[in-house]
Amino acid sequence: MRRARRVICFSCWCVVGALTLAGCNLFVPLAGTKTAKIERQPIPGAPCKYSERISQFVFLSDFKIRPDDAIVKDLGRLREQVYRELRLPPADTQVFVHIFATQPEYQRFLDMRHPELPPRRAYFIAQPTRGGEDLVVYTYMNELTQRDLRHELTHAMLHCVLKRVPIWLDEGLAEYFEIPAGQNGVNAKHLEDLRQPDIRFNLQKLERLSEVQDMTPEKYREAWAWVHLMLRSTPRARQALLDYLTELRINPEPGALQPRLANAFLSIENAMQSHLAELNRKLPRGATARQ
Ligand SMILES: [Zn+2]
Repeated sequence: MRRARRVICFSCWCVVGALTLAGCNLFVPLAGTKTAKIERQPIPGAPCKYSERISQFVFLSDFKIRPDDAIVKDLGRLREQVYRELRLPPADTQVFVHIFATQPEYQRFLDMRHPELPPRRAYFIAQPTRGGEDLVVYTYMNELTQRDLRHELTHAMLHCVLKRVPIWLDEGLAEYFEIPAGQNGVNAKHLEDLRQPDIRFNLQKLERLSEVQDMTPEKYREAWAWVHLMLRSTPRARQALLDYLTELRINPEPGALQPRLANAFLSIENAMQSHLAELNRKLPRGATARQ
């Protein structure tokens, strides 16, 4: 059983728990097939006029979305990237991605359906249903939609295949994969903020966080940095993370990850400093990224 929890992102809001969905039946044709259909309870007020299915993602909108749209193609590739890089078995669980045309429409919907949620550009919601779960992402078209969807869909994909994802790791991986493919997961803004001389890294402390309120912007940056260190420094560090994720597939409480890095680094703090220095050295001049 996955533990119901709520995760508040500073770039998103991911909700795993009991929220209410209702409505009449909706049938979404599977792209590339003529007979297969997806039966699903639609969400009143959420865009659903047009649908386009790419792998496990079903994009729903009130404006036409085409399978060759850059954003749709990129998100289809994201699925392959995430599961391949993390050596996880791809899931087929459908994730319904409702994309509003404008921010006011999106906000009106959220005010009506989820007045408890604070303003965010995107949300991932896992809704328990009689037959299992309904995985839904909401967002609206803006200049950061692609990146926000990469972030939210990473949460969704991890949720599909792991029994539980520790908060820091969930956000660290989402921050890593939200960066467009080809940029090696380097978040230039995080890197810039982590250059401050008083920054301290403490994975042990980060792993103890379990409350949403503890995930400050500083913790998001640190979570990204640890994930980047493990995936992009040494084969042993990478393997430690992959083994941990493999264990999370069957064991929701695998203990701490930090001790498993003892074989990868003499000092993980020094390894982090060296890794960030190397990333800074390679960072193209003038590179910036949004928070
Ligand atoms: Zn997130």
